Amino acid sequence: MTNTAVHIHITGIVQGVGFRPFVYNLAEQYGVRGWVSNNANGVELELEGSQTAIDGFIAALKHQAPPLAVIDAITVACREPCGYAGFSIRPSVDGQCKTALVSPDVATCPNCVRELLQPDDRRYRYPFINCTDCGPRFAIIEDIPYDRQATTMRRFTMCPACQAEYDNPANRRFHAQPNACPVCGPAYRLLDNAGRLLSDGDIFARAAKLIAGGSILAVKGIGGYHLAVNARDEAAVARLRARKVREDKPFALMAGSLAAAKAHCLVSAAEEQLLTSAARPVVLLAKRDNCRLAGSIAPGNPYIGMMLPYTPAHYLLLGQDDIWVMTSGNSSDEPIAYQDDDALARLNTIADYFLVHDRDIYCRADDSVVRVVEEQPYFIRRSRGYVPAPVNLARELPPVLAVGGELKNTFCLTRGKQAFLSAHTGDLENLPTYQSYVEAIEHYQRLLSVTPQVVACDLHPGYLSTKYAAALDLPVVAVQHHHAHIAAVMAEHHLQGPVIGIAFDGTGYGPDGTLWGGEFLVADLKEYRRAGHLATLPLPGGAKAIREPWRPALWWLQELYGQDFVNRNIPLAQALPPGWELVLAAAAKGINTPLASGAGRWFDTAAALLGIRRTINYEGQAAVELELAAQGHNGRVLPYAVSETGGSWVLDYRPLFGALCREIQAGTASAQLAADFHTTLAAATCEVARHISRAAGIREIVLSGGVFQNITLLQQIIGMLAQNRLTIYLHRQVPTNDGGLALGQAVIAGERSR
Ligand SMILES: [Zn+2]
Ligand SMILES: [Zn+2]
Repeated sequence: MTNTAVHIHITGIVQGVGFRPFVYNLAEQYGVRGWVSNNANGVELELEGSQTAIDGFIAALKHQAPPLAVIDAITVACREPCGYAGFSIRPSVDGQCKTALVSPDVATCPNCVRELLQPDDRRYRYPFINCTDCGPRFAIIEDIPYDRQATTMRRFTMCPACQAEYDNPANRRFHAQPNACPVCGPAYRLLDNAGRLLSDGDIFARAAKLIAGGSILAVKGIGGYHLAVNARDEAAVARLRARKVREDKPFALMAGSLAAAKAHCLVSAAEEQLLTSAARPVVLLAKRDNCRLAGSIAPGNPYIGMMLPYTPAHYLLLGQDDIWVMTSGNSSDEPIAYQDDDALARLNTIADYFLVHDRDIYCRADDSVVRVVEEQPYFIRRSRGYVPAPVNLARELPPVLAVGGELKNTFCLTRGKQAFLSAHTGDLENLPTYQSYVEAIEHYQRLLSVTPQVVACDLHPGYLSTKYAAALDLPVVAVQHHHAHIAAVMAEHHLQGPVIGIAFDGTGYGPDGTLWGGEFLVADLKEYRRAGHLATLPLPGGAKAIREPWRPALWWLQELYGQDFVNRNIPLAQALPPGWELVLAAAAKGINTPLASGAGRWFDTAAALLGIRRTINYEGQAAVELELAAQGHNGRVLPYAVSETGGSWVLDYRPLFGALCREIQAGTASAQLAADFHTTLAAATCEVARHISRAAGIREIVLSGGVFQNITLLQQIIGMLAQNRLTIYLHRQVPTNDGGLALGQAVIAGERSR
């Protein structure tokens, strides 16, 4: 006998994750009647039954939710009973306010993998097998609420067998929107690089054979194309590197199984958890000494970026022991290709063959890249598998669009207490990247139903993102680059401040006309004070000095030794780069020689002095190689100097760089000096932080900026500050590089316009 009726509204990631079938089965179990439906804000349901049954149902709702569901809130309101006869799933209601959360893309689940490889299953070797627990989501969704009609699966009409699964609440494909089979669903095709069809036999076996033979294969995946080669084939990897115009930057790999990954890399428990998670990011792992993969995958690098299969096609392509390079399908710095015609046009000079399919990707997303630091994830790139899940904020903000920086761009939209950071866009100075950026901003606004009231951008007037922001018809809040970095960490950890923020990166626009990037800020979510910084180095040639670290290093040698530097037994002085006299002459007159406090420039200068790297082929390369050189050496604290004027601390580079030059000439190994550089910078940084902490009475230290991708420096600073019982906060949800910048911009702009 019905005695109670309730209306329940659930928000969070509850669509496309098997939530309605879960509710349906729960209703059967508890013997309650009513209905469940997706609406644009989440899931709503009405229940009628005894009070005990309803209480039991609600408790189970919270504790037994499907693995991919993330419940933010459950609201329960009492109703008059209507006398429902049973329980039903009602069609989605297209409400006015669309705030339901779209699920990120999910790796193929174990049940689907089992069916995929089971010869008597009707989806045996079908490369689009999925269920309510797995498959594409964000990549194929055009609009909300999440229903098949709003996805790129719209054009495939389900066959009777698939439709029966889709309609049966007891089936694990009940309302699985991408549900498909070989009869009714999308299909892969194997093409050569002229677009001709190679169609005979099992195309996956054939593609695998092509890879084994040394070919380069472009493979369409979830969020875009990959370029694949056999990772054990040195010649093939070198050919891919040459065709992709990528000289030194490491390639990501995919291993056919966890065991194969473990055969070549060391995998801790935390790393294994990340590798096998539903997000399936690329995880940075230490190579084993006996690793026999091609050396040109990551030249000189003891780490390898590894991931495990996450689509059915990956399982069909890679055998258990296989390891393939699986790098983004693009040339150099262009955005990843995701549309078929575009991929064929852009990648046909790189790939020998194409494995394409006819399920369109609506929104591109590169693979995410994560490493484990202190047993927890530390993001290098946050994209597929994580986007568009929000970062939950401490307080509600007005709707903000934060346009991000220039390099490694992501943008951010806020809605209530949630911040949605976009997938990795890339370097905006590249025109196709900029175009995809503009399209993506519009798509995310529609998908998240956010109409921004404010736009946040960097202070740098030259960034394309800043120009984009200025062209919108919205109030603009320009945010200092390093303040945004610090605020991003604060937002993740729900800190209101003030904190001491240490923001170390390459270069960012400082309000005083110099380039900042070695900053100690006393900051809250609205304002900051520059409480200290690294001393400024001249950058002879401006932007050129960033690509050619020998320039600031040479300036320093002349500063230290005058004209006599050419006689010094220092690698750079012994083999002077062409044009060096002009560079020094221009620097002496201050022509095109801006001053920069960027920590990245200190790394560059040290790397060039030590003879480790004098010109770079990708951003941050000199710092990466300096860190690699230091591996396995215990750093010593070399001389350094910190001083205070008018409440602001400056860390002088002269004692440190002077000591490095003396030691080089005394014959100390460059690897030892690379380690010394890290330890000295860490010690000096901690000393400045302690001074500021004492003066300001603040014990919370926040670390951000691209330089903190350097784990050697990061861990030494964490260790030293912990001894002073200061509390340290790092990024845990968004990247420490400029890929996390937009989150900080959004929060600052939101707090300022509250
Ligand atoms: Zn599945
Ligand atoms: Zn079918």
